[in-house]
Amino acid sequence: MKTNIKCRVSDEDIDHVFRSCSVSCRIWEDICKDITKSNSFKTEWSSWLWENLNCNTLLLGQIPGHLLFAVTLWFIWKWRCEKVFNLRFLFPSCPSKSIMKYVKEWLDANVIGKSSTVKESRFISWSRPPLDWVKLNEDGS
Ligand SMILES: [Zn+2]
Repeated sequence: MKTNIKCRVSDEDIDHVFRSCSVSCRIWEDICKDITKSNSFKTEWSSWLWENLNCNTLLLGQIPGHLLFAVTLWFIWKWRCEKVFNLRFLFPSCPSKSIMKYVKEWLDANVIGKSSTVKESRFISWSRPPLDWVKLNEDGS
């Protein structure tokens, strides 16, 4: 059984990693105290997860609550793994900056209707060459 490097808890379950660990608590406090409902940290793990993954409230005016929640979970997991497997890893001094940067990049890349390119569907298939010709197919990758 692995010991959490930061908090020294020997019995690390999913609730501990994402919610009750001192490291994850610090991240939740840094990213946004309003991201989860005030009492939700006291509810059962699955209820907490379900409730926040379905949060459609816009935080900071433009960020869907479920997106910020999911990205924060992902960073908690990413940094936890970095800490365990990469001895040179330095925990960010301001975790919210990394999380908010990622969320903003995701929002910019996923705005529907933003792209001006027109998509065209083309069906491709093999076609027989003319008589007296040889066709060589190759994969360009
Ligand atoms: Zn911990």
